[in-house]
Amino acid sequence: MTRVFNFSPGPATLPEPVLRQAAGEMLDWHGSGMSVMEMSHRGKEFISIHAEAEALLRELMGVPANYKVLFMQGGAIGENAIVPMNLISRGGKADYVVTGEWSRRSQKEAARFGQVNVAADTEAGHFTHIPKQKEWKLDPGAAYVHICSNETIGGVQFHWTPDTGRVPLVADMSSDILSRPVDVSKYGLIYAGAQKNMGPSGLTVVIVREDLMGHALPVTPSAFNYQLQAENDSMYNTPPTYAIYIMGLVLKHFKGMGGMAAIEAHNKAKARLLYDYLDGSSFYRNPVAKEDRSLMNVPFKLKDDALDADFLKGAQARGMIQLKGHRSVGGMRASIYNAMSLEGVQALVQYMKEFEAQHG
Ligand SMILES: *Cc1c(COP(=O)(O)O)cnc(C)c1O
Repeated sequence: MTRVFNFSPGPATLPEPVLRQAAGEMLDWHGSGMSVMEMSHRGKEFISIHAEAEALLRELMGVPANYKVLFMQGGAIGENAIVPMNLISRGGKADYVVTGEWSRRSQKEAARFGQVNVAADTEAGHFTHIPKQKEWKLDPGAAYVHICSNETIGGVQFHWTPDTGRVPLVADMSSDILSRPVDVSKYGLIYAGAQKNMGPSGLTVVIVREDLMGHALPVTPSAFNYQLQAENDSMYNTPPTYAIYIMGLVLKHFKGMGGMAAIEAHNKAKARLLYDYLDGSSFYRNPVAKEDRSLMNVPFKLKDDALDADFLKGAQARGMIQLKGHRSVGGMRASIYNAMSLEGVQALVQYMKEFEAQHG
C-alpha cells in the first residue's frame, strides 16, 4: 500500500493512525459486535462515543462552561443561513467582514434573513490581506459581526482576534479550527465543517454562547434551531454518527501530539518551510501580505501559467496530489492542515526546487 501526500483543501488528509484504528474497529467496535455505523444513536455505545468526542473538543479548545457544543449537519454553507436564522433577530441586522470567497458567500446568504452591512471588503485588492479593525465600519446595533478566520481559497488568515465589544463575534473556522490555540470566550459563536482539519465531511461543529440561543426566526427548521439541538444534546435528529466517531479519534490523536500549542508549532514549521522557499524564489510567488498569510492554505503561482499542467503532472508522479489552485485564483494551492506531515511539505519543496531548476 502506498499513501499519497494529499494537499486537498477538503475533504482532506487524515492522520494515518486514526484510519488504521477505524479499520480495525470497523466490524466490531469494542466488543459490541457492531460497526459504529450500525449503532443506534440513542444506545449506550454511541452515547459514550459522542460524549467523549465532545469532551475532547472542549478540552483541546478550552471551551468555557457557558458555551454549548453542537454536532450538526449542513456544512459551513448550511451555517451561512443557519447562523442568521438563529442570531439575527436581535436587532434584525448583522455586520460582515468580507476577506475572500467564503466570507462573501456568508454575507450574501445572510442577506436573505435580515439587513446585512459589509463592514469591510478587500475584493478590490483581490482578497490578499486582512483589513485592520480601525478600517471596519461596525454598527453598534448589529446582532453580530461575522468573519472567516481563514479563507481557504485566497490563503489569508486572521492572526489576531477582533474586538467587537458587546456585539458577539461569529467566526467560520472551517479551515483552521484546531490548528492553533483560540480564546473561545472572545467569540459568540464558532462554526466549522469537520472535513478540513478534524474529520470526514457530514459533520458541522457549532460552539455557541448560551445566551445567544433562543432567538431563532420562526422560519428556522427545527433541526437547525440551536436551542432545540442544545436541549436535545445534538440528537433532535439523528446526528452524523460515524463522522462524530472519526472526529473523536482525530481529537484523541491531536491530544497525543501534545495539544494545541504543539500542533500550532508543527503547523508553523511546515508553513515557514514553504513560505521561506517561495519568498527566496523568483520562479514562484504567493500574493498574500506577509502578516496575513494562512498557515493552512498556501496559494502560489508559477512564473508562467503555461507550466501549470507540467507541474501538476510531475507532482502526481511523485505521489503529491490535489495541488491545483481554486479556479478563482489560478495557479497552485497547497493545503497543509494538521494531518499533513512535515515530510509531505519537505517533499513538495524538494520537488518545487527541482522543477524550478529545470524550467526557471
Ligand atoms: C470548505 C469551506 C466552506 C464550505 O463548507 P461545506 O462543508 O461545503 O459547506 C465554508 N467556509 C470555509 C472557510 C471553508 O473552508
